[in-house]
Amino acid sequence: MADTTESESRKLLVRLREAMAGDDAGQARLDKITHLIADSMGTEVCSVYLFRDDETLELCATEGLNTESVHQTRMRIGEGLVGRVARYGKVVNTPDAPNAKGFRYMPETGEERFSSFLGVPVQRLGEMLGVLVVQSREAREFSADAVYALEVVAMVIAEMTELGAFVGEGAALSPLHQQAVLVHGVSAQEGAAEGHVWLHEPRVIVTNPIADDPHKELERLNEAVEELRVGVDKMLEVSRNGDKEQLQVLEAYRMFANSKGWMRRMEEDIARGLSAEAAVEKEQSQARARMSQVQDAYLRERLSDLDDLSNRLLRILTGQGANTGAELPENPILIARNIGPGDLLEYGRSLRGIVLEEGSVGSHAAIVARALAIPLVVNAKRVTTEALNGDHIMVDGDQGVVHLRPDETVVGAFRDKIAMQAKAQERYASIRDKPAVTTDGQRINMVMNAGLMADLPSLDGSGAEGVGLFRTELQFLVRNQMPKRSELVALYKRVLDAAHGKPVVFRTLDIGSDKVLPYMKPTDEPNPALGWRAIRVGLDKPGVMRMQLQALLRSAEGRPLSIMFPFVAQFEEYRSARAEVEKTIERERILGHVLPADLKIGAMLETPSLAYAPQKFFDEVAFISIGGNDLKQFFFAADRENERVRRRYDTLNVSFLSFIERIVERCAISGTPLSFCGEDAGRPVEAVCLAAMGIRTLSMRPASIGPVKSLLLRVDLGELRKIISDARHRGDQAVRPAVMEYLRGL
Ligand code: PEP
Ligand code: MG
Repeated sequence: MADTTESESRKLLVRLREAMAGDDAGQARLDKITHLIADSMGTEVCSVYLFRDDETLELCATEGLNTESVHQTRMRIGEGLVGRVARYGKVVNTPDAPNAKGFRYMPETGEERFSSFLGVPVQRLGEMLGVLVVQSREAREFSADAVYALEVVAMVIAEMTELGAFVGEGAALSPLHQQAVLVHGVSAQEGAAEGHVWLHEPRVIVTNPIADDPHKELERLNEAVEELRVGVDKMLEVSRNGDKEQLQVLEAYRMFANSKGWMRRMEEDIARGLSAEAAVEKEQSQARARMSQVQDAYLRERLSDLDDLSNRLLRILTGQGANTGAELPENPILIARNIGPGDLLEYGRSLRGIVLEEGSVGSHAAIVARALAIPLVVNAKRVTTEALNGDHIMVDGDQGVVHLRPDETVVGAFRDKIAMQAKAQERYASIRDKPAVTTDGQRINMVMNAGLMADLPSLDGSGAEGVGLFRTELQFLVRNQMPKRSELVALYKRVLDAAHGKPVVFRTLDIGSDKVLPYMKPTDEPNPALGWRAIRVGLDKPGVMRMQLQALLRSAEGRPLSIMFPFVAQFEEYRSARAEVEKTIERERILGHVLPADLKIGAMLETPSLAYAPQKFFDEVAFISIGGNDLKQFFFAADRENERVRRRYDTLNVSFLSFIERIVERCAISGTPLSFCGEDAGRPVEAVCLAAMGIRTLSMRPASIGPVKSLLLRVDLGELRKIISDARHRGDQAVRPAVMEYLRGL
């Protein structure tokens, strides 16, 4: 084995850089590189395998194996020793490859002549690009030093691949970031959008992975780390008196920033010829690869802290990475790993679409995107790696699909879809001011859900007759600290002003479960959806609830006011909450504030238990709104956040519709006004069935009012009810097939 000391490594990197700098086309470069590596490491073979697609690796260049097999030999991830390196992102080092576990003989390469095998992953920031292999005839294990040297070279190859160094005529690779890519995710807000990529945190590009002067690079690294440490210390100082959780995170940051192991590894990388930024990235890549392997949540968190720190360090070293100052492209489509609701609100309506690599349907970002009616796809794997700023992109929020750099056919089909949607919008605009009356003369009250000031212009635009659900928690969620009472008074007043006398139902703070306030101590509950949430928090810790009630009463300035409490599971909770309102009114009266002309106090029916409350509850409550999202999850015991089960049970399931009918009957006895404000109210087929069951007020996203009303105007609820009833008597599980048949015949 040839010498793989630091100086040897450095020499090899310098030779590699020279090879890169030449005018050769991509393939010739790659060939030269394999030759140089084999020569420097004293092995007969050096080969580069790169991914063709997600599953397939291809031999792209080799020194020592049969050259005819280049671009012919392919293997699936996990297959053979090379496939194993790619699958697990781990080094395979064996003196006796033909007898090693997983070895696959490839006759076309003639590799059985080689005994020793050393394969290292070619990866960039956790993205597996391929595998770099050296082999030799002589049976021996490669030294730790040799492994390290090859890893450093693999890092350079990864950077070069990213920079497109192997692209060109007869090239080994199709250009990265140039092909069309289809990304499948999950729909979190419907709608179609076309535009250009705007990366929330653009990737840092390292253009100089190889450096001549290790001393200078070390100095650069030390300076950058010092700046990083000072920054972290400053953050710690500021947070000293603040939130404990945040403090813990920062302490962990500081620990990493001062970690000797981390520094030592980066110093070694530099000694072997990498530039300071390439060294940071090499360690970051390896940490990310580990992150995808570890199961332990705590460890994953720590690795993700390290990832964040590495990003900061890279930004300091390269001066890249912050979008500040750059201009949003035309029709921007935001791409991020994840984003908080506050950041999203800052972009506001300027965005055409949003694609998140992580995120979930119920996340706060999703709530904001929905409120702003911006198409949103979450869980879009690898999208931040694939996309570059400015790329042409099409987002299909209905299907949860993203087309990056789409080809002509996709563009054509997609634009047709957008045009069709625009046509439908025109149709909806034409019925905007028409009341929703079915063909058999039933009048349905169409109101909307809201939560942000940004929603309110939709009151006029959509033709909504009022706000059936104002989710007040959104205002709490998008802040970093508890809003003051005076701020809330001003806000609710603006909402009522903007409604111009149309009724608004304010729902009191609905927190807990997935909605966690950043400034409240998180509770560690085994099952938050069934835990301490909504009215339960309000009654146990009434301080915030009282403050909110006061703000609501004052904001009315003598106008009528409707308040409803979320998640009421039993009569007593409603009574206690109402008693709080009464106490607050008394206090306001004593303080001399004007009181609302009329005050209605309602309850949300979100647990099956409330449907069976004593009749007295129905007599006393001013109105009831069915929170279908929660009610359905508890009725079927199927978590609304869990992709595996959330679509498993149909809203048009006979049991669920019968249950809704039962609630309608109970409200009818006492004459209690009833509405439905879950997502199903905004789905046309579901909405007409709810109306057929007797619901007369539907509250939905503003964008759904047109489509729902358009269908309501065409149906006969009496007939629909009979169809549902027949399906029920036949013993159908869901009435959807029968209903769809009826609707198709309209
Ligand atoms: C519901 O549960 O249906 C509802 C309207 O409330 P949220 O979606 O905010 O829980
Ligand atoms: Mg709810």
